[in-house]
Amino acid sequence: MKTFSFEVKKEILKCRYESFCCAIAALRAVFQTAGEIVVKKNKLTLALIIDNDDLFNFVFDTIKNYYGEFKIVPEIYSTRRLGSEKKEITFDEDLGEKLLFDTGLISLSNGNIVINQNIDKNLIMENCCIVAYLSHAFVGCGSISLPTETANGYHMEWSLLNESVASDIAQLLSQLEIFSKTIKRNEKYVVYLKDKSSISELLGKFGAVVSMLKLENTSIEREMRNKINRGANCMTANISKIVDAATKQINSIRCIESTIGIEGLSEALKEMALIRLNYPAASYQELAELLNISKSAVRQRLNSLIEIAENLE
Ligand SMILES: [Zn+2]
Repeated sequence: MKTFSFEVKKEILKCRYESFCCAIAALRAVFQTAGEIVVKKNKLTLALIIDNDDLFNFVFDTIKNYYGEFKIVPEIYSTRRLGSEKKEITFDEDLGEKLLFDTGLISLSNGNIVINQNIDKNLIMENCCIVAYLSHAFVGCGSISLPTETANGYHMEWSLLNESVASDIAQLLSQLEIFSKTIKRNEKYVVYLKDKSSISELLGKFGAVVSMLKLENTSIEREMRNKINRGANCMTANISKIVDAATKQINSIRCIESTIGIEGLSEALKEMALIRLNYPAASYQELAELLNISKSAVRQRLNSLIEIAENLE
């Protein structure tokens, strides 16, 4: 069975960007989460390790769209451990260098090439680019899960080796007014969200609309189940309240019986006491019907019996 993470990523990777700003932001995220800077013919270029065809196609289409036709011969190898196939692409050094510069992964400083881990704020400024970056970073290093029978709650995360990239992601999320938390887990920095409405909103922005609807459906189902459970709890609480009250009334009547005796009571109270003893589980409504009096008269008489018993103690 395909996981929810897989479905979300597949939906994100269907997107093809109309504007260069977003395409660059998305490529930057892919390079940062799945790529490596390598040296080829004395130049810096880019190597990507890709384990799914949708991501491969996204990268291929996007680069072709903005940089023209190019040739790459992916090196395919299968990882025995996972039983999955991976493709390694090493870009031709000229294209590779261009991609590294354009995505801001490398830049020139005083004539020297520097590698930039942190996102260039001038590169990813507009909300459209922020969304493109975050969604493709999610493809590279993210996961998401819905509540299940055994696990409670919604969870979406980006798991990164680099602390400053993690803080960039948290920062970009906050620019969309989505507030995340970060924890360190097994040498990785994990930026995560637990809030259902933030996750849903983000899936919508990512263009993962089918996944967003699935999440909303899960939420509605859960809400209904909770309501039903709350209803059941409420019923149990009411029953125990009735039982508690009846127990107190019966104890009072027993107390009267063993001291002054039922006979010592007024006709009305005597009748009430005997009916209560015969129908210990009956509600006030049922007692009222049995005695052909009002519910409030029942309550009043039962309270009188309790009061008499209390004075006898
Ligand atoms: Zn943009």
